Amino acid sequence: MVIGGGAAGFFGAIACAERHPHAQVMILEAGRKPLAKVRISGGGRCNVTHHCFEPALFIQNYPRGSKALRGAFTRFQAQDTVNWFASRGVALKTEGDGRMFPVTDSSQTVIDCLQNAAQNAGVALRTGVRVENVKKGETGGFTVHLKSGEIIECDRVLLATGSNPKGYQWAQSLGHKLISPVPSLFTFDITDQRLQDLAGITVETVSLRLLETGKNKLEQTGPLLITHWGISGPAVLKLSAWGARELRDRAYRMPLQINWLPQYNNETLRQHLLEIKTQQPKRKIIANCPFDLPKRFWQKIVSYVGISPDKPWAELAKKELNKLIQELNQGCYKIQGKGVFKEEFVTCGGVNLKEVNFKTLESRICPGLHFAGEILDIDGVTGGFNFQSAWTTGWLAGVAMGNDE
Ligand SMILES: Cc1cc2nc3c(=O)[nH]c(=O)nc-3n(C[C@H](O)[C@H](O)[C@H](O)COP(=O)(O)OP(=O)(O)OC[C@H]3O[C@@H](n4cnc5c(N)ncnc54)[C@H](O)[C@@H]3O)c2cc1C
Repeated sequence: MVIGGGAAGFFGAIACAERHPHAQVMILEAGRKPLAKVRISGGGRCNVTHHCFEPALFIQNYPRGSKALRGAFTRFQAQDTVNWFASRGVALKTEGDGRMFPVTDSSQTVIDCLQNAAQNAGVALRTGVRVENVKKGETGGFTVHLKSGEIIECDRVLLATGSNPKGYQWAQSLGHKLISPVPSLFTFDITDQRLQDLAGITVETVSLRLLETGKNKLEQTGPLLITHWGISGPAVLKLSAWGARELRDRAYRMPLQINWLPQYNNETLRQHLLEIKTQQPKRKIIANCPFDLPKRFWQKIVSYVGISPDKPWAELAKKELNKLIQELNQGCYKIQGKGVFKEEFVTCGGVNLKEVNFKTLESRICPGLHFAGEILDIDGVTGGFNFQSAWTTGWLAGVAMGNDE
């Protein structure tokens, strides 16, 4: 019995039914239509996985779960996902940043593929069916209690309910510890005059660091997008994932250091600015950005440090130079809240991985109970990593669930 008709549940059910034709496999899904998140994922295109076929590298994209996934990926990894879909008629393409999408650019292709594969393998799908409880059966196995009052008996259960609180509750009542769920993959709300009126501007490479965490890890480099409410973009999303718990503990209020020019350190930056001062003494500072930074951003920073609009480079005072270096290399901003990243958001936390056998995704506490997908304390950064963990854990659970022993 598979509870939850999402990515992990479908993959588990299909793997079980295909590998074990004798097994009777059923998916119970609360929604009227299954695979709702697949539909909206990746802006409606479904970022199925990531073009990285080396498990040791792939796992570096999981703030939580990397250790447990390492072995799992040696059994079913991104390359297997690509092959799985290809063998069922869905070709994937790779974008410049490594994200993989169906060539149709439509999540419907992925949904159709999963639904057809389930049907062909003989998986029974019941939609619009809300599960209320899952209990151990009196004579072994499990009883699944539906909201309608119906009770279904089964000998193995796969909990693939994503971040739904019910799934966490059942896992707890069946003896599991829960790592408290908190959001991951979000943008930062920052109201600051240095970012004002700059919405839409992208800076190709910045380095972000959460201050006052006492952890070195909480630093990320990558593109940054200035938004109406603060900042977004890959560097921010990655930092929100790695710092999900610290940020939550601080109610999403934390100081953030932005290094707008991580390719320079304070010294090389100083040298570069002094060279410009010598080489172009008559040119106005504000109109002559010596870096690969958006012009409007440069103008903002120059005004912010108090350099007057008509000052030429020759008149740049030492104090102004120091302030400019400080702003460009170590600008301090205040995160004031958490925004929404519409393309993708996930939950960090869930079923404690120590209590799950990652060869079979079976509970070490309650035999016959398996887990897959977001219900586990696994989450990745954006780029197809979250679906990959759903495919992998779903597949391993499904294959193991049909075994007789
Ligand atoms: C907007 C958005 C975009 C995303 N885009 C991407 C992307 O492009 N790439 C990527 O890798 N990840 C993406 N993700 C993350 C990805 O969608 C999840 O990691 C993935 O869906 C998890 O799969 P799952 O099967 O574990 O859970 P889910 O997809 O959440 O499926 C769980 C299912 O269980 C059902 N269920 C819950 N409770 C009950 C109950 N009591 N009874 C019956 N059924 C129940 C739910 O209705 C649901 O269908 C995105 C997430 C969001 C929110």
